[in-house]
Amino acid sequence: MTTINNSIIKKVYKKIKSYDKIVIARHVGPDPDAIASEIALRDSIRLTFPHKSCVAVGLGVAKFKYYGILDKINPEEYAGALLIVLDCPNLHRIDGIENLQYQEILKIDHHPAEDIKGPVDWTEETACSTCQMIAELILNSPLKLDTKIASNLYLGIVSDSERFLYSYTTTKTFKIVEKLITTSKIDFTSLYIYLYDRSLDEVRFQGYLAENMQVTENGLGYLIIPAEIIKKYNVDLATPSNLINSFNYIREAIVWTFITEDAKNNGYKVSIRSRGPIINTTASKFNGGGHKYASGARLNNEEEIQAFIKALDNDCENYKRAQISNLDK
Ligand code: AMP
Repeated sequence: MTTINNSIIKKVYKKIKSYDKIVIARHVGPDPDAIASEIALRDSIRLTFPHKSCVAVGLGVAKFKYYGILDKINPEEYAGALLIVLDCPNLHRIDGIENLQYQEILKIDHHPAEDIKGPVDWTEETACSTCQMIAELILNSPLKLDTKIASNLYLGIVSDSERFLYSYTTTKTFKIVEKLITTSKIDFTSLYIYLYDRSLDEVRFQGYLAENMQVTENGLGYLIIPAEIIKKYNVDLATPSNLINSFNYIREAIVWTFITEDAKNNGYKVSIRSRGPIINTTASKFNGGGHKYASGARLNNEEEIQAFIKALDNDCENYKRAQISNLDK
């Protein structure tokens, strides 16, 4: 969609305007798009409506502190609040709303819809990021923008579109980015340090991943990463997900996945990426979900790992077969 979503933007703005207490949340294990969108929207609401009590919740992540500080709340104080859920389609993956008696949900998200359904629901699967949607909302409503809000939104867009590489990057993305930069005069090239700063340990760990990835005949790249390797390289459970996009365009792999042992929770955290087959159908069969070409899952044991690898390998095989039969037509 390249036109501005004026009708849903009006509904979203009206709903925000009608509440004095607002809690903004996003998914567990946040990435820059999730964190930046919730903080940017909170700061814009605070700037526009100083009398409202608006907070952004969820577990803070040290390496994302540039975006701003999240709020710790007493749920009782926010009883009856409007809950705005960003970048998260599933109720069970919302972070930080335990014991919150909210009045209703307003959702803004670019994931395929799941079980969250509020009276105002803006789901746009073809948006490259939730930050693009929040930028569209702010730029086309009375909500206010300042340089910090624009910088956060810019970083979320750059991060989730993988520097404008993914197919959901559209002319609309560029128009929104241009407007963000010109109206707020953000010095955008100086911001990349906040996205791309990394330790030498992480670079060495990336070398380990490249060295040890297995690739099947059908084009599935996979790697099971034991907890002791995470410890040895001094990285954490989120690092494989942070690095997985760097493994795009490997000629031999059309789908690739990192299966990382999560010893604390007695299971495996899984990241999957694709540049062909749709992978979120398989992800959803293994306690997961996400986008068509960028998904995640959770596995419990070796048996599930093997079933998962087999299912993804089948996806690759079917995709290649369909491509060959299309060539024959
Ligand atoms: P990640 O590989 O962690 O960057 O996740 C890729 C995408 O999949 C993101 O949109 C996540 O929100 C989504 N995702 C990751 N893990 C899960 C899960 N267990 N269930 C549903 N969605 C997930």
